[in-house]
Amino acid sequence: MDLLEYQGKQLFKRHGVPVPEGMPASSVSEALEAADGLGYPVVVKAQVLIGGRGKAGGIKLAKDREDVERAASAILGMDIRGHTVHELYVEKASDIAEEYYAAVIFDRSTKAPMVMLSRQGGMDIEAVAEEDPTAIAVVHVDALVGFRDFHARRLCFEAGIAGDVRGPVGALLGKLYETFVAEDAMLVEVNPLLITGERQVVALDAKVTVDGNALYRHPETGALRNAGADDEQEAMARERGLTFVKLDGNIGILGNGAGLVMSTLDVVAQAGGEPANFLDAGGGSKAEAIVNAVEVILSNPKVDAVLFNIFGGITRCDEVAGGLVTAFGQLQPKVPFVVRLDGTNDQEGRRILADASLRGVWIEETMLGAAARVVELAGAP
Ligand code: GDP
Ligand code: MN
Repeated sequence: MDLLEYQGKQLFKRHGVPVPEGMPASSVSEALEAADGLGYPVVVKAQVLIGGRGKAGGIKLAKDREDVERAASAILGMDIRGHTVHELYVEKASDIAEEYYAAVIFDRSTKAPMVMLSRQGGMDIEAVAEEDPTAIAVVHVDALVGFRDFHARRLCFEAGIAGDVRGPVGALLGKLYETFVAEDAMLVEVNPLLITGERQVVALDAKVTVDGNALYRHPETGALRNAGADDEQEAMARERGLTFVKLDGNIGILGNGAGLVMSTLDVVAQAGGEPANFLDAGGGSKAEAIVNAVEVILSNPKVDAVLFNIFGGITRCDEVAGGLVTAFGQLQPKVPFVVRLDGTNDQEGRRILADASLRGVWIEETMLGAAARVVELAGAP
């Protein structure tokens, strides 16, 4: 789960990473109130889950009330690369001498947290990585040893950090690592890491991604789930306890068991189709779960056909068939369904479907046959 800048900065503050003082605001009057409280000049910043806000005009310096009013009205409702601005962050303006870059991320290839530091902050770090990879210093941290002073010294030395700020930059990296571990983060990025005119070291931006599967350990962070940030269909599936990932195609997919659903996506792709989703109805899927799942799949208007691929183990094919019959009664789908039932009680399942004589339901014996059929029925996406 991605956090907005100000939410990330709240975590930073809690762990002692220095940040400028600021207040969130969701209207012009709240922005004015915040600015009055902070003292001028301030910066008014769009809060959206996407970077490059500065370039898009989502960050404005304001020296007085009039400026704040103008900036807040301009930024609220603005579209930044497909993200509408509903919230602002009003922050005490900082005076910029240098812009560095710092981050802690998971390096999956070495299976260790990786701390990065560069003097070339304030810009697109991917571009820096491409043009001059030596400009980014990197260390991998042994989780049992943790981030130590020697890591910090090495990063500062290799990144060529100015001598007078090596101490505070190193200390900030330590706090950043602490935030990463304590908050179960997947990514903590500070771009720019600011060196002010008075040589203070401050996190001027915050990009934090926390592990959604660890949110039960962080109820406060879990409560921050940003309304509107999630895909509507994914939110609907989550509410119903389904494992669902939205994809770009036009073939709705339902299977039981993550492995089977993954293979189903592959087989559909191999048959020339494009899946609209991943949906694992889970082991032991009951009729009610099937109705819920069908409703979620059909809520995507791009879906032209649906494939049910069920391998009955703990899941019983007759339960799934019963669920599908109920779903048809309640939802009256307008798109064809292809159903492959195999395993526990599959004959009974097929008999239930045949007896119900549902319109637009095709029964296929094999997974490959089912994939070919659904691709044919769905047509081009
Ligand atoms: P991003 O564009 O979404 O990454 O947003 P950032 O928070 O990184 O801000 C982008 C740029 O705006 C920074 O690199 C700074 O150059 C500038 N900026 C942000 N806050 C301030 C501030 O308080 N004072 C000044 N002078 N510039 C700022
Ligand atoms: Mn930034």
